[in-house]
Amino acid sequence: MEQPAVLVVGGGISGIQASLDLASRGFKVYVVEKSPSIGGRMAQLDKTFPTMDCSMCILAPKMIDCSHHPNVQLLTYSEVKEVKGSAGNFTVKILRKPRYVDETKCTGCGTCADNCPSEVPNEFDEGLGMRKAIYMPFPQAVPRAMTVDKDNCIECGLCEKVCEAEAVSLGQEPEEVELKVGAIIVAVGFDLFDPSQIPPYGYGRHKDVVTALELERLLCASGPTGGHLVRPSDGKIPKTIAFIQCVGSRDRRLGNAYCSSICCKYSVKDAVLIKEHVPDARVCIFYIDLRAFGRGFQEFVNRAKTEHGIRFIRSNPGEITYDPVSKDLSIWYEDTVTKKIDNLKFDLVVLCPALIPRNDAKDLAKVLGTEIDQYGFFRPSSNLSNPVDTTVSGIFACGYCLGPKTGDIPDSITQGSATASRAAEVIVGGT
Ligand SMILES: Cc1cc2nc3c(=O)[nH]c(=O)nc-3n(C[C@H](O)[C@H](O)[C@H](O)COP(=O)(O)OP(=O)(O)OC[C@H]3O[C@@H](n4cnc5c(N)ncnc54)[C@H](O)[C@@H]3O)c2cc1C
Ligand code: SF4
Ligand code: SF4
Repeated sequence: MEQPAVLVVGGGISGIQASLDLASRGFKVYVVEKSPSIGGRMAQLDKTFPTMDCSMCILAPKMIDCSHHPNVQLLTYSEVKEVKGSAGNFTVKILRKPRYVDETKCTGCGTCADNCPSEVPNEFDEGLGMRKAIYMPFPQAVPRAMTVDKDNCIECGLCEKVCEAEAVSLGQEPEEVELKVGAIIVAVGFDLFDPSQIPPYGYGRHKDVVTALELERLLCASGPTGGHLVRPSDGKIPKTIAFIQCVGSRDRRLGNAYCSSICCKYSVKDAVLIKEHVPDARVCIFYIDLRAFGRGFQEFVNRAKTEHGIRFIRSNPGEITYDPVSKDLSIWYEDTVTKKIDNLKFDLVVLCPALIPRNDAKDLAKVLGTEIDQYGFFRPSSNLSNPVDTTVSGIFACGYCLGPKTGDIPDSITQGSATASRAAEVIVGGT
């Protein structure tokens, strides 16, 4: 008898790892990814701590392996709508949203986008660059196919006319697919807290107050500035840069009492990267207390101080003020070592926002029947004995959708492999 398949919901690094592990053991895997491409947040990063490897250089081969593996079927631009049944025997309804482009015909040549008159901010570049209404989210996207964003399409029909492969089909309809699977793995990752909810920081009012993910795109060679670190307001190279930690994390008033667990580490990484881009830059990190846990990370922080001259200020930043003449951003803060109120001027301020659950994680949990915790992350049935089992038998979770205990990419990969093992156990007759 044929073995039941496994459904992986979310095609970020943790979902990709789970899929590859299962596929290489001979299990059929369906990957349902909501956006037009797999890759998740890791695709948006420039380099990764602590090794400073190029993020896309590690991710892209895994994305390609996943799409080429004979046991993996990718269902991108798709969502889970209904789940029935129990461990070993789930029936799942998937909505395939219309891409308005035939994935099998599109060559990714880009002629359609070159001719499309409608231009909108590019979400992959966190709104710092532009894309067309017919677009590929990023150059290494998998599948390598365009998608029409109907909200911003003026229905001029040009893309359909110029496509020599006859791949564009503006009349495409949504499709429903029914799958039979034995186990389900949830790997839907995280969103970022919106820092404009803390008005004194001026995010959304001052162009040179950016988020860490925006900075990743500004540093990245494939980003909107071609990897040149410039400040968004006037394109000048910033010489004084500050990071503010815990923006929305560890803050009961905002409902996120937890530490997001990775911001201390990635801000040290980004501070070092900035020094590589602009060697004479003055970089300061304003932190409550530095949580650089994990093997080698304290040494990483020490090197940032001694070799790169990064300044760490233990503090409570209260407000960022803006001088329209000099364009300086002043951070007003209480130094929690000297107990003094002080201020420092910067060209660019980088906010490190809390990592929060995906905005539709609650709806997905409802469809799956699984519990979520008080913040909205998927709740494991036991943090100690079953850390990747959800509260429903046969449904597992990995990566950041389990909350901040799985902070970084290595953790997400480990958990992806753990869910693959648990799913395999269920399918071959375990529990
Ligand atoms: C600014 C910044 C810098 C970072 N730097 C580093 C670093 O240097 N090193 C490091 O180790 N880590 C770093 N990280 C952390 C890293 O990004 C995460 O560890 C990693 O992305 C987690 O992977 P994931 O698969 O759990 O989630 P994600 O990467 O979020 O992927 C989840 C996927 O699921 C999809 N999805 C969401 N909802 C649904 C749904 N309902 N149905 C179907 N699909 C869905 C999403 O579109 C996405 O493709 C950084 C994070 C940030 C914010
Ligand atoms: S839709 Fe057609 S024109 Fe556009 S990238 Fe694909 S093959 Fe090229
Ligand atoms: S139909 Fe829409 S996507 Fe195609 S070229 Fe016109 S505006 Fe762009």
